[in-house]
Amino acid sequence: MANYQDLQIAIVGAGMGGLGAALALAKRGFKNIDVYETASNLGFVGAGIQMPPNVGRILSSLGCWDGIEKEATAVNGTSIRQGSSNEELTHVDMPNIKEKYGYAHLCGHRSSLAGNLYEACQREASIKFHFSSSLVQVSRFTPKVHFTIRPREGAPYEVEADVLLGADGIKSQARIDLLRELNAEQEEIETGQAAYRIMLTREQMAHDPEMLALLDSDDVVRWVGERRHIIAYSISNKSIYNLSSVQPDKSFAAAPSVTYTTKGSKSTMLDVFGDFCPLVTKMLDLVPEGEVCEWRLRMYKPLPAWTHGSVALLGDACHPTLPHLSQGAAMAIEDGAVIAEVLSMAPSTDADSLAKALRAYQLSRKEWCSNLVEMAYMSSLTLHLGEGKAREERDRMFRERGSDGSVPDKWASPDVQKMIYSNDCVANIRRDFQQLYAQAEA
Ligand SMILES: Cc1cc2nc3c(=O)[nH]c(=O)nc-3n(C[C@H](O)[C@H](O)[C@H](O)COP(=O)(O)OP(=O)(O)OC[C@H]3O[C@@H](n4cnc5c(N)ncnc54)[C@H](O)[C@@H]3O)c2cc1C
Repeated sequence: MANYQDLQIAIVGAGMGGLGAALALAKRGFKNIDVYETASNLGFVGAGIQMPPNVGRILSSLGCWDGIEKEATAVNGTSIRQGSSNEELTHVDMPNIKEKYGYAHLCGHRSSLAGNLYEACQREASIKFHFSSSLVQVSRFTPKVHFTIRPREGAPYEVEADVLLGADGIKSQARIDLLRELNAEQEEIETGQAAYRIMLTREQMAHDPEMLALLDSDDVVRWVGERRHIIAYSISNKSIYNLSSVQPDKSFAAAPSVTYTTKGSKSTMLDVFGDFCPLVTKMLDLVPEGEVCEWRLRMYKPLPAWTHGSVALLGDACHPTLPHLSQGAAMAIEDGAVIAEVLSMAPSTDADSLAKALRAYQLSRKEWCSNLVEMAYMSSLTLHLGEGKAREERDRMFRERGSDGSVPDKWASPDVQKMIYSNDCVANIRRDFQQLYAQAEA
């Protein structure tokens, strides 16, 4: 049998999932890893990101957690407030997340997460990046994978690999080709939600003690209102306050051709949150005119399959999620770590074994990720309730808390945190691989 480390692995997409997968494979000893990325370099969206302990576990094992931890804010609690009045519905203390789960819950800058991953990849001789290079089509799925790459300059060319990983995000071409091959379709769930992402600097907030108190705190704050909320936290050594909103999707519904992001108008944003408390509206008002960007929030029903032959999807390519559990990037990075495990544990390097190993990855991850995607969606329905009995009941549950401390905001709920943060996806696949491989064979 050829050595698994000599397999030619191609990855499409150098987002969080693609970078994490490349690094996990390199750490597992794979020697030939080619990453194809449409962008000409890794210029990351200026926004914050929450990195929960379950991804801390993976990033630490890949050697890039310490650098991220240095500039991130370790969350100590969360405050859920009525958007309209700033009245606190509940405060969930999270003082000992690190002791409980081994890793802190961090809030950081996306460029810190991606930059640390990318730098770690660059230290691996086995990883080769091809920027300005887009996947056009996957034409063969087994025994070798064939696909076409179009460089920004020059002619398209064909590539052959033993395994292709589609980490090409929500618009995934790999997903389109894989589902077409299976005669299957993706079904989008209309979320009706869009998001603004905002970053305020310490200088912008310096004149207001109430704002500075938010910036200097270790709490995540969520202000909730009908069909809307804002979540906010400090990043980059508390030099930046990151706000991420959710509101009814009007821009994209009105302009279906604009499918993912669009320039937003500041006055519309201020109108959407016009009945929120002055603390929130004052912060929104600090955003410079012309710098409002709106994202459409998308999700799909669970796909019929994530793998076919020697091709596998990971991250947003196969399970895009609403951000309300803060698990999207975490799940993408976990997927890559699990793929590295299954490929190194496959009993042989023939195409049949690789396909079964990738199906074992799917068996290990698909149900789990689908449940988290569903939970994030359901949590938003609860957070966005309008006036009425259901909201009164929700607010009572926030104030009184369950006997286990649970709250209706699933992200902040200690029972959900325990379930997600203690889930060690690498330990799971090491424990279950033989059984899942046998199941994949059946
Ligand atoms: C408002 C908001 C807040 C969020 N907050 C959090 C959070 O706090 N915590 C968290 O864990 N997650 C969060 N997420 C989710 C998270 O950002 C995504 O789930 C994560 O980035 C997905 O990573 P990915 O690698 O799968 O895809 P992406 O990061 O989208 O990367 C895909 C890459 O593939 C490239 N690509 C695309 N097509 C091609 C092609 N044909 N050929 C070559 N390259 C291609 C793209 O250029 C891109 O670089 C949030 C999302 C949103 C919208």
